[in-house]
Amino acid sequence: MDYFPSSYDDSRARFLQSLSLIQQKWHSTQLEAHPLKNHPDLTIDWLWAYAHKKENLIIISTAEHGIEGYVGYAMMKVFIEEFAPRLNPENTGLLLLHGMNPWGMKHYRKVNENSVDLNRNFVYGDNFDLAINPEYHQVKEFINPQRRMDSYGIENLRFWGNVIKNIFTSGASKISRASLLGQHHTPNGFYYGGTNHEEGTRVAMELYRLALEEYQSVIQIDMHTGYGPRYQMSIIISPLDPMTSSELSHKFNYPLVLKINAEEFFAISGDMAEYYYKLRNEHFPDRYLFACGFEFGTLGSSLPARIRSLRNMVFENQLHWHGAKDSKAAERIRHEFGEFYFPSETKWREKALADGRQAFEGILHAYDLL
Ligand SMILES: [Zn+2]
Repeated sequence: MDYFPSSYDDSRARFLQSLSLIQQKWHSTQLEAHPLKNHPDLTIDWLWAYAHKKENLIIISTAEHGIEGYVGYAMMKVFIEEFAPRLNPENTGLLLLHGMNPWGMKHYRKVNENSVDLNRNFVYGDNFDLAINPEYHQVKEFINPQRRMDSYGIENLRFWGNVIKNIFTSGASKISRASLLGQHHTPNGFYYGGTNHEEGTRVAMELYRLALEEYQSVIQIDMHTGYGPRYQMSIIISPLDPMTSSELSHKFNYPLVLKINAEEFFAISGDMAEYYYKLRNEHFPDRYLFACGFEFGTLGSSLPARIRSLRNMVFENQLHWHGAKDSKAAERIRHEFGEFYFPSETKWREKALADGRQAFEGILHAYDLL
């Protein structure tokens, strides 16, 4: 049986169909859907499976970054078929959230219909600060060119020329910080975090609040792809989690755990897990929360791999906003973007499934849920 869906509609249909497995075990469930206001054929779907005693809740969420929802669904399927049957419905509930950014998933983009990266949009409170990431302005001509694309060969030469120039003038770490942190001032720019909470963000925020209201302990696992070593999934954790990555690696018996900061992964402003910890700390201090991501690396974590990752992001964004003179260039850029977030290689997919299983086992075991 194939784990990886071929389209958003395929993924959604499979998700809805698989829920009967959950409904056999949890007698009280509620399936809900939020159609996007301007794209009512696209929905964010979720299932609550209520525990008799509301002690533990496990949240599995996918497609915060649209295109990453294909691997995300595969992990949802592994969870539903192999792990949910081993949980105790007496004291453990579920919130299965499919397609937080259905538009991005449908169109194989990372951002949503308003070009917002939802994982830069979970700003706590309403302070969408235009002043974060001042370094963005120093590299914006490089990472956010405002012109129609030439042939792939010419664009590629230009890109590498810019890499060398910018590494000399700004340094690799500044380029990395400036491109990945997020920003709130340039809607056609890079890792744009928006200027208010997006529809998908608001839906998720409301669900997360309800989860903490109702359950003593909440474990969230959110699915991502793209960064980190190619054949080793990283469990990524918020800097607000009190435990260190090596303590969590030991606790989960899992080889690679990284904190979302400049030293271990990279820094993010408006990150979803960070939002969740802030919400817990301010309004639900007596609740337990562990919120993490599974990040399935694709190109690798060496410097050349990180530069190629950057190229994929720069080219795809430029293509979206300015188009290409050459249809072959457009095709190649879309193909490379697809491989960056949803690799077609069988070996990669098998290792991703194996890592996902190992991490579910480790985390659920560590919290005595299996
Ligand atoms: Zn992601």
